[in-house]
Amino acid sequence: MQDCIFCRIAAHEITARVVYEDDEVIAFDDNSPQAPVHTLVVPKHHYDSIIDDVPGETLAAMARAVRVVAERKGLKDGFRVITNTGEAAGQTVGHLHFHVLGGKDLAAKLI
Ligand code: 5GP
Ligand code: ZN
Repeated sequence: MQDCIFCRIAAHEITARVVYEDDEVIAFDDNSPQAPVHTLVVPKHHYDSIIDDVPGETLAAMARAVRVVAERKGLKDGFRVITNTGEAAGQTVGHLHFHVLGGKDLAAKLI
């Protein structure tokens, strides 16, 4: 989708700080971080959200990428994975993504 910002990042048409990339997914730092580590894991193919018809292989690739991000970012004390789904949940970019948040104590907070 040409007007989708995450499709354009996945195609390297827009720059981002890439943490991990393979054929299926790209992970890059959020440009408005909500924690010391705030990285987005994004499938290269466009899906609107987790309730789109996302193949299991894609979800598995995203989960593997989460683990690589956690390793590369040194999140050995724990981290949080979030996927906002729909505007009412705060989704602002309509391309499926997992937020990986860490680097500070998140235990007392919902998000
Ligand atoms: P959502 O609100 O949809 O769950 O999350 C979208 C996230 O994408 C937000 O945290 C926002 O800061 C991030 N974001 C939006 N546009 C860009 C961009 O152009 N580059 C990067 N690196 N992050 C972006
Ligand atoms: Zn897209």
